[in-house]
Amino acid sequence: MIGKAEKTKKRALPVAAVIAAFSAGGALIFSAALLPLSTGLRIFLLGIALLALAGGVVGCLVRERQTACYACPCCGARFRPTLQSTVSGPHTFRKRKLKCPQCGEISYCRKEQASARFDR
Ligand SMILES: [Zn+2]
Repeated sequence: MIGKAEKTKKRALPVAAVIAAFSAGGALIFSAALLPLSTGLRIFLLGIALLALAGGVVGCLVRERQTACYACPCCGARFRPTLQSTVSGPHTFRKRKLKCPQCGEISYCRKEQASARFDR
């Protein structure tokens, strides 16, 4: 059985990893821009920075998939979208265009709190 402190630790780890990836990418970009380095080394640092930033974006998407719960405006069903629909669905800050697994309607579903109860 997992205790409440362990659950919190598991949930906090991806956020720390995402922040670390973005910080490392930013630090590498500034290093490549400001330090007196050869062109080859600058390109190498920028390549690593791009990989770190891409890792941060993927981490954000995985975190969104793990924690987000959406409510269908048509039938009110609450569901967690697939990773593919999370990545490919057009969205605003609080809404994402998703297909409801219950009624099949494609609409802008409202994002619920991570702690909200959902049916699926
Ligand atoms: Zn629905």
